[in-house]
Amino acid sequence: MENQKETEQLGTFSGYIRRPTPTAFGMTAQIFGENGDDADTILALSLSKYQDLEVFVNIYMVKDEAGRIMKKDDAYPLISSFNGFVRRSLPKKDGMIAQFFAPNGDSADSVSELSKSGYQDCLVFVDVRHQIQKKEKYIDLQNYKSIDDVYANKMTKKEKDAILESQKQYKKINEILEISDFLLKIEVVSSIGQPNDFQDWLDKTQPCSFMMTQGQNCKLNCSHHQVTGLFSKFNFIPLCDEHKKDFTEQHFQENDIYYDMKHRLLLKKWVLLKLKERFSYDGQSEPQPQKVLQWAIEKKIEKYLPEKYRKLAI
Ligand SMILES: [Zn+2]
Repeated sequence: MENQKETEQLGTFSGYIRRPTPTAFGMTAQIFGENGDDADTILALSLSKYQDLEVFVNIYMVKDEAGRIMKKDDAYPLISSFNGFVRRSLPKKDGMIAQFFAPNGDSADSVSELSKSGYQDCLVFVDVRHQIQKKEKYIDLQNYKSIDDVYANKMTKKEKDAILESQKQYKKINEILEISDFLLKIEVVSSIGQPNDFQDWLDKTQPCSFMMTQGQNCKLNCSHHQVTGLFSKFNFIPLCDEHKKDFTEQHFQENDIYYDMKHRLLLKKWVLLKLKERFSYDGQSEPQPQKVLQWAIEKKIEKYLPEKYRKLAI
């Protein structure tokens, strides 16, 4: 029990190493945590009850700057481990910098390891505990588990920047798709989903599409309604119960252009959503053109892709 109290964990967070600062008496380790859970933990460690508290800090490498996971043989590399003191954290625009002072000797030497230029921009895991005399194996095991559970899937800043950059590119290329008729080809629509998926989506997300006088919207709950005059086996539009009664053959004939357009818009929206689900990195962003092209080839529908899109997607 006594042992456990001594090694009690005070907090863990992930972050990026900043160059440690030397003083005459030792070295101060600095780790930047982004706004959110990481910065919150750093801020909590900065509370006055922890100020100048003697702590034991372990820093593990989770991902290198290119975003590669550093786990090897079930272990993450421990790049620094030292006894030191909590110093006030520094607020920055995008997060907080945690500071730990390590006195000259083994501790400061271990902190000096963090000056290596290769460590900047790498994602690290920081474990802060009450000071201990001797480090035991279970501490590493406990930390590996935390990293696996929470931090191994976290993206590094470089990875995020790369994704943002590629999203911009994809968006441009996908605009070609959106203004073409690819998304409404029946072969394309039936390759991405089934009529009942489309019905489900209409039921769960879309408002009543009955033609109203301008400026009005029907806000009643609605569900899909089959319209014989609309193209394909995906010929459904969302209507509320009231408007289903008003939706006569005559009403449709008088407004067929409106309903045809409305139906195409809905179908297109749904196909795009499906492409996002299947071909974007997180299921809701811009679909990756290379993957869309690959899929179109497999489904033998690549001939419907605009030529410009095909060229840019390669
Ligand atoms: Zn309605």
